[in-house]
Amino acid sequence: MLEELGITKETLNYLKEEEAKVKDIFAQIDDTCRYNSLKVLSAFHKYNVQEGYFNSTTGYGYNDLGRDNIEKIFAYVLDAEDALVRSQFISGTHALTVALFAFLRPSETMLSISGAPYDTLHEVIGIKPNNSSLISYGIKYDQIDLINDDFDYHKISEYLKEKKVKLIEIQRSKGYSTRKSISLDKVEKVIKTIREVDKEVIIMVDNCYCEFVEKETPLTYGADIIVGSLIKNLGGGIAPNGAYIAGHHDLVELASERLTCPGEGREVGPSLGINKAILQGLYMAPSVVASALKTAVLTSVALEDLGYQVEPKYNEHRTDIVQNIIFNDEQKLIKYIQGIQMASPIDSNSLPLPWDMPGYEDQVIMASGSFTQGSSIELSADAPIRPPYIAYQQGGLTYEYGRLGLARAIEELKK
Ligand SMILES: *Cc1c(COP(=O)(O)O)cnc(C)c1O
Repeated sequence: MLEELGITKETLNYLKEEEAKVKDIFAQIDDTCRYNSLKVLSAFHKYNVQEGYFNSTTGYGYNDLGRDNIEKIFAYVLDAEDALVRSQFISGTHALTVALFAFLRPSETMLSISGAPYDTLHEVIGIKPNNSSLISYGIKYDQIDLINDDFDYHKISEYLKEKKVKLIEIQRSKGYSTRKSISLDKVEKVIKTIREVDKEVIIMVDNCYCEFVEKETPLTYGADIIVGSLIKNLGGGIAPNGAYIAGHHDLVELASERLTCPGEGREVGPSLGINKAILQGLYMAPSVVASALKTAVLTSVALEDLGYQVEPKYNEHRTDIVQNIIFNDEQKLIKYIQGIQMASPIDSNSLPLPWDMPGYEDQVIMASGSFTQGSSIELSADAPIRPPYIAYQQGGLTYEYGRLGLARAIEELKK
């Protein structure tokens, strides 16, 4: 079977040795998983999840009992007052877009304090011109870059003293940048800094890839609103699509009126049969995220010991599920990504190549042999084709499959 998969005993033995080095880190991951599982089960009981919630609505989607309770359960799990969890959100980018267009009005300012936002938001904001961008509606955009992978606390404070800002955006996960992801303690510190100067500005956090990696959420520390995708962490690999916006009730209401229409808001939106998948996905999510984290830690230690540069290191504190391997070599990068595809459950005989993907500025290569198209809680790896040729790997529905994917990718590097 190993031969069939293209994996050698030698590589598996190597991974076994590497695993021994990360035992204590795996134990910490299990601890967080136990806590978040307890939280999810508490939420299921508090909102009395029952088979009737799996029924669905069609058409307008009025009175969808399951959908409405799913939103309460997500709010509980995310430490939020309220949440909007809908399959009408196409992706994380779409939910972020809905939130930004819901909260910002012409002549108001959006300020990103974690540097340039995720690539797909460039056209949404208008950093890259687009006739439907926020900027095209007369919204202003400004950004403050990170310094040494931390917020520029002083500059943020000075900026807010001088100018009225409507919304501050913080992106925790690194996207396709070379910076580190932003941990919750930094989020806490920067929120304190912001609130010393401005009590009103909306603090919105792009929480993609961070859910259930730690025990708290940015809302625990005073963020107003967080946004994430259901084909990442919280969908547990089972939700077929969708995203969430969670936080203050009034902001969630505004977002709902932007997603559907003013006056109808969250009352409409049929669940079309996905309530069960969303609930089951959330139920699985703590343990799926733990598997993804273990896959990331093993990747980090195994590739570092093979001489590759990695970020984060295996023993660094993690705040998201993304693992970078910095190849400094285009061919090695491509080989590695192709190796991940070769051990995927779906489309394992397809060979990923760099292409001009909509929404991204450089050519991008993506390995995603996933059950759900583009799902990155499933083992996946992608990279913009530009120096220093970094692979962004994430996911792994189970640790065992994650480990096989890593083994297969290592074989490609050995060639
Ligand atoms: C994945 C991601 C998004 C949204 O991406 P979609 O592919 O549109 O779901 C936004 N921000 C960050 C940091 C992400 O990782």
